[in-house]
Amino acid sequence: MAHKETWYCNTCGGLDVRHDAVARYNPETSEFDNIAVLDDTWCEDCMEASSGENVGDPAFGIPGVTNECEDGELT
Ligand SMILES: [Zn+2]
Repeated sequence: MAHKETWYCNTCGGLDVRHDAVARYNPETSEFDNIAVLDDTWCEDCMEASSGENVGDPAFGIPGVTNECEDGELT
């Protein structure tokens, strides 16, 4: 896999990170438009492997590389 920044899980290393978002139904396309992506994130793999309390530790960066900052924010 290329060394490219993405959302991944610090707990299991998975890439199936989900984001809370706001969607609006579009009757023109019969699909939901993504209006906004909210702050809440969780790892779907950790969610399925647990009772739902441990939802992983999603972070933005390059998987396998230690990141100096979290959430993709430069300090
Ligand atoms: Zn995980």
